[in-house]
Amino acid sequence: MSERREKLVPLAAELAADFATRAGEHDRDNSFPAENVQKMKDAGYTALLIPEKHGGLGGDLEDFALCQEQLAQGCAATAIAINMHLFGIGSMVERATGRPEESFFFDAIGRAKQILGGGISEPETGGDWGYFATRARRDGATYILNGRKTFTSLSPAIDLFMVMATIEDSNPLSAATFVVPRGTPGLELIETWDAMGMRATASHDLLIKDVRVPAIAMAEQRPVGPVNEHAISLFSWFGISVAATYTGVAIAALNFAKEFAGRLKPLAMPRPIKYLPGVQFAIAEAEALIAQSRALYLGVAADYIRDRNSFTGEAGLARVVMPKYVATNNAIRAVDYCMEVVGAHGMLKKFPMERYFRDVRAGVNHPLSNARARELLGKVAMGIGLAETPRW
Ligand SMILES: Cc1cc2nc3c(=O)[nH]c(=O)nc-3n(C[C@H](O)[C@H](O)[C@H](O)COP(=O)(O)OP(=O)(O)OC[C@H]3O[C@@H](n4cnc5c(N)ncnc54)[C@H](O)[C@@H]3O)c2cc1C
Repeated sequence: MSERREKLVPLAAELAADFATRAGEHDRDNSFPAENVQKMKDAGYTALLIPEKHGGLGGDLEDFALCQEQLAQGCAATAIAINMHLFGIGSMVERATGRPEESFFFDAIGRAKQILGGGISEPETGGDWGYFATRARRDGATYILNGRKTFTSLSPAIDLFMVMATIEDSNPLSAATFVVPRGTPGLELIETWDAMGMRATASHDLLIKDVRVPAIAMAEQRPVGPVNEHAISLFSWFGISVAATYTGVAIAALNFAKEFAGRLKPLAMPRPIKYLPGVQFAIAEAEALIAQSRALYLGVAADYIRDRNSFTGEAGLARVVMPKYVATNNAIRAVDYCMEVVGAHGMLKKFPMERYFRDVRAGVNHPLSNARARELLGKVAMGIGLAETPRW
């Protein structure tokens, strides 16, 4: 393990231990853990992936996965929320070409501790992160943005909204990311978030009504359509960190189940339930699911760090979608096994198990959803192009 990783992983574990003391309360109250965001800023975690010369901690993709695994064990909602800030930064740092705007941007995250977020998902396009109902119209030296975004995690803390929009009248049809500072006229947060799981993320709606931004607010433009380098980079950072975050929830559930099985001793039994074969087998299943996931996403992260140029086209995308697909589904199954071990006590609000059970279910909904992932993985495996028509 690198010297850097030896510092970063315990830092995430320390934050997680503190966050765990408030996770139940924020979940119950549907409240936003602003103090957790402040603590992550103070510890440098919000700049985990920013190069050290810009005030960050200089983490790579594997560090990111290992840290998110830790953080999610303390408070899954905080972990997935900060993931929405971090993954895009990881991809931007990776693709940086040395332009002065990039330095300025990295300093804003690293030194000024600003928070990015929001601005991808929409009611009309859901988890289709290539094409957007939100529109950007060029008007002289400005762009005018209109649309509505959903699931804007971290919304009370975001300084810079990353609004993804389709550029009107572009040829070829293009989409772009616009950096829109909080407080820009026409930007309005609508407090809609009240969900089954990941409740403390404050993933509210963002209304964008005639928001005017200077043309330099457009961070990058890419054609809508075939899988490109940008998509692979974005999905690598997203897919692997999401895989790790939900695996962290499963690890927390497993730890709880093991501890519980060691102390619950029914009157009719001479020893605690951990000596029952059914309990041992269920724990074994959960252990195996988590081990498979970790081997896969940490392996793919290491391959990506070693040779990211080998991740190209639809096959390259499939390589980074696979760990997300496997790990988010495995995490659900692992938590289900843990729930079985704990029994009805797992349903009680006084224990964290029921929160793990709800939180872990969100994982499969992040792009690529199960249906889209299976389509990509199946088509790539059989040499069918995603653009081939008819689609099915
Ligand atoms: C806790 C949490 C936090 C989030 N935070 C953020 C955030 O900060 N920023 C952000 O932008 N987003 C965020 N999201 C949104 C998220 O990552 C997805 O974009 C969103 O969950 C997708 O929503 P959906 O399932 O309604 O999507 P849809 O894509 O509409 O999918 C609904 C269903 O239809 C199927 N489907 C739809 N279209 C197709 C198709 N063309 N082909 C095959 N199947 C299809 C899907 O497989 C799925 O079963 C968050 C989500 C959660 C749960």
